[in-house]
Amino acid sequence: MQAPDISRAKSAELFEKAKQYFPGGVNSPVRAFKSVYGTPLFIERGDKAHLWDADGNEFIDFCCSWGPLILGHNNDQVREAVAAQLGKGLSFGAPTALENQLAELIIENNRFIEKIRFVSSGTEAVMSAIRLARGYTKRDKIIKFDGCYHGHSDSLLVKAGSGLVTFGETSSAGVPKAFADETIVIQLNDKQALEAAFAEFKDQIAAVIIEGIPANNGLLLQSKEYVHFLRNITKEHGAMLIMDEVITGFRIGFEGASAYYDIQPDIITYGKIIGGGMPVGAYGASKELMACISPDGAVYQAGTLSGNPVAMAAGIAALGILAQKDFYTNLNAKTEAFVNDMRTYIAEKGYKVQLFHVASIFWFAFTEQQEIKKASEIDPKSMESYKIMHRELLNRGVYFGPSGYEVGFVSDAHTTADLDQAKKHIFDALDIVFS
Ligand code: PLP
Repeated sequence: MQAPDISRAKSAELFEKAKQYFPGGVNSPVRAFKSVYGTPLFIERGDKAHLWDADGNEFIDFCCSWGPLILGHNNDQVREAVAAQLGKGLSFGAPTALENQLAELIIENNRFIEKIRFVSSGTEAVMSAIRLARGYTKRDKIIKFDGCYHGHSDSLLVKAGSGLVTFGETSSAGVPKAFADETIVIQLNDKQALEAAFAEFKDQIAAVIIEGIPANNGLLLQSKEYVHFLRNITKEHGAMLIMDEVITGFRIGFEGASAYYDIQPDIITYGKIIGGGMPVGAYGASKELMACISPDGAVYQAGTLSGNPVAMAAGIAALGILAQKDFYTNLNAKTEAFVNDMRTYIAEKGYKVQLFHVASIFWFAFTEQQEIKKASEIDPKSMESYKIMHRELLNRGVYFGPSGYEVGFVSDAHTTADLDQAKKHIFDALDIVFS
């Protein structure tokens, strides 16, 4: 049976007010709930795997702030580390020992980078990585994949046109055509398209950028073989491979998708989890490549709040927990059991929905296709089913991202009781979708 609607009176009131101040009433577009039912929920607080909105509704949270909260909300160690730093100052614009500590923690536990630079968001990390690749190779063009999101810098707000290899078309007003012309967009999982792009733009391609595991347009799981092909073809043509690990870094494991695929990218970008819930991004590479960055080298990149001490304190506390033995084994096993139980229910009922999954990331795809590896393989009409599921879940106290293209995250804070309760609600919601 359809669940009664939760009260959204306070959220609706706050949203009306927010519309006076912000475009669309929000500070990031997906928060406006345009792809799902109802007014966006205004969140008041979070604790462990739970969220409370302005109307007092409680939810089990699988959005986890879009990935950063691998330890859940209000983690004791992260909160205490932040509180301890608050009394010492919020920002100095000068080096601190905290930056060294976070860098050491990362580099000592990560085979894939030798030096790192902290920035304040994933967008900044990727934008800087692209500049580094261009500065190092002295080439201008980059290749990105349709369906991979890398933040909102000009070179990357580009979508695929038609055809095997296309100059990208801007996917946002305000991106100069000349910028989009430097971005070539191809489909994932298509070796021929990559070969054709390298043949057509010989010695012009600075970098190929791919999400560690594409998770911004559904969860588009690539084969290990394809990612190794990507590594080999970039090397062959003297182009950099940029692995955008803003989602996968410290999520798939401490060493992210690079370790998952056993691949050495040239440049890796991080965000989300690295700051323990505070605004931090980073990019890292070999010592040789990082020597190109100012003040050592000619590639300029800077930030007033880069390496912010409060954010560093949060990152150190969070990553310290993640670096402990068995953290990922336990989290991934817990997620796998959760996913398998849902798959069993779906199979028993014969529902046309797939559950794609890796580590502690999962995605519901309302389709019969057993595999989806390209953005173009997702049927936009399937999003109608997600919309119904989303409404039913919110009304039952389960919070998923407000778009069917978004993945769900399980955190260390999700208890067996949380997951059992969530499963029950997900089964009921699926029953409504397919009724
Ligand atoms: N790269 C990837 C893979 C992302 O998922 C995102 C954000 O979702 C970004 C880059 C941009 O990060 P931010 O939103 O912190 O700017």
